[in-house]
Amino acid sequence: MTIDPINNLYATDGACHNAEPNTYGHECGKRAWFLGKSRGGFWSGYCSDCKANGAEARQCTEWREHPSRAFG
Ligand SMILES: [Zn+2]
Repeated sequence: MTIDPINNLYATDGACHNAEPNTYGHECGKRAWFLGKSRGGFWSGYCSDCKANGAEARQCTEWREHPSRAFG
């Protein structure tokens, strides 16, 4: 099943959802500029720093521009 990231509120809420190991799932939370698809097939937003260096973001594929303007 394909998930349309435009209609995935978690993916498009405007925040970066990268979480590093040993941070107990604490998410980055910066403005997300990109969407990436995880190996599990879930779309999520990531900031440019995490897109380059994030533990979760590094595993993502099919990068595209983030559609959200939520953070102005
Ligand atoms: Zn980030």
